Amino acid sequence: HAKEHGRNGFRFFEPSMNEGVREQLSLMQDLRHAMERNEFALHYQPKYGAPNGPLIGAEALLRWYHPTRGIVPPEHFIVLAEKSGTLVKLDAWVLNEACRQLRVWHDAGLVLAGISVNLSPAQFESTELFDLVRDVLARHRLEPGALTLEVTESTAMKDPESSLVILRRLSELGVRISIDDFGTGYSSLLYLKRLPARELKIDRGFIRDLSQGTEDAAIVSAIVELGRMLDLKIIAEGVETTAQAGLLADLGCDSLQGYLFSHPLPPDDFMALVAREPVH
Ligand code: C2E
Ligand code: MG
Ligand code: MG
Ligand code: MG
Repeated sequence: HAKEHGRNGFRFFEPSMNEGVREQLSLMQDLRHAMERNEFALHYQPKYGAPNGPLIGAEALLRWYHPTRGIVPPEHFIVLAEKSGTLVKLDAWVLNEACRQLRVWHDAGLVLAGISVNLSPAQFESTELFDLVRDVLARHRLEPGALTLEVTESTAMKDPESSLVILRRLSELGVRISIDDFGTGYSSLLYLKRLPARELKIDRGFIRDLSQGTEDAAIVSAIVELGRMLDLKIIAEGVETTAQAGLLADLGCDSLQGYLFSHPLPPDDFMALVAREPVH
């Protein structure tokens, strides 16, 4: 009996916990080889001007094609990758892969203004980020303005003084900064004002139950207002219905992203989708 064997009667063993831990260990094991076995891929989700066009860019979202489990979503393995020390390599791979793909698309004549890449908290704080970004852009001959880096509000506000330094350098390089999952962290408005961001991305949590006259609608309005004052574009994520899209446009959101328009797609499907877009 675990309880009797546990020190100070602390119950450290539970069948369900054990299973979860074993599952995580097994995934962590598999992660070690996932990179060399080419099991990672990026899917791309289009971003549109509100309420229904034009296409203004795409967000790259990481997928792990696990040989037996199928597609594992990032929220199930990014933390594990961080724990096992493989995230740094994975982050670098993501940045390079997104830029490589954009170069391929540009060369194929596909009109896509830019690509957004999510930064992990560790990557954001890494002293190598700036050089990595600059080198990757040069390697694929991309204008820095074609790359948007998404950093969550919580990450950006964790140590605002050093975030300012990091983001200013990237921004001086010409890269665009988007503050992701906005509204879920605790922004100091004083810092938000000084951050060289271009875009606030309203968290899906405020969009899910959005309808006229709700608290969520009031919050969206307030964020739009804030964006106007600070000269930031406002994008909403997780837009699933035409009603949400219409209301978001009425409330003054600049752009929209969500299943209503498209799920994140593998590169070929994304390319096919863009090829069907009317040219604006
Ligand atoms: P995020 O950056 O906020 O990305 C938005 C998430 O919402 C994505 O989930 C996307 O597939 C999902 N989504 C998009 N439209 C809708 C919609 O209409 N309804 C709903 N319910 N969901 C929608 P995903 O791809 O599972 O990614 C989850 C999180 O994992 C991301 O949140 C981001 O924080 C992280 N992530 C994804 N790819 C990367 C990556 O390459 N690097 C890092 N560091 N983090 C990543
Ligand atoms: Mg994002
Ligand atoms: Mg987000
Ligand atoms: Mg999110």
